[in-house]
Amino acid sequence: MKTTLVLLAFLSVVLVLAACRPGVAADKHAEAGPGTAVPGPAASTSSGLEDAPKVGTKSSLVDADWKEKLSSDEYYVLRKQGTERAFTGEFWDHKEAGIYTCAGCGSPLFDSATKFKSGTGWPSFHQPVRAERVGTHSDRTFMMVRTEVHCDHCGGHLGHIFDDGPPPTGLRYCINSISLDFVPAEPQPAAPEGSDVKP
Ligand code: FE
Repeated sequence: MKTTLVLLAFLSVVLVLAACRPGVAADKHAEAGPGTAVPGPAASTSSGLEDAPKVGTKSSLVDADWKEKLSSDEYYVLRKQGTERAFTGEFWDHKEAGIYTCAGCGSPLFDSATKFKSGTGWPSFHQPVRAERVGTHSDRTFMMVRTEVHCDHCGGHLGHIFDDGPPPTGLRYCINSISLDFVPAEPQPAAPEGSDVKP
């Protein structure tokens, strides 16, 4: 009888310990560190984004850091809400496939698949890669009411949003080229010779 009671007590302890153990998903989550690939379309189309800031995190850099890190033109647009002259930036007529990132912090902001020809002389997109990657506020400068858009991670000024864009959003994210960097999409592997699979 005594042996049976000891055996039952031992089994109870084993069952309790098993129930407290985290599942596989929890273990994987715990291992995900700062270098974890950014979820969403950016990570699936381009390499070079492994060190991008994670969604929802904020840069700790202060104004003196930005002055040291950025060129004077970048600082003027990104940190002082400046605007580059139309048709002068690197990306207004750029057509390569890939991800446009923040020139200040590297956060992935726009997918080339959402870029369209606006005729304005600034790179234009109908949506960001993820809504959480950008922030907005009402801009009442120059006797106009506009919606300013900035990088959510570092607060860097990107441009403005207008409601005259194409479907599916009807929005035009009018962005300064100098606020952006570009990460080309990974080349697609060529299909084997004779294969019906298109690359
Ligand atoms: Fe940024």
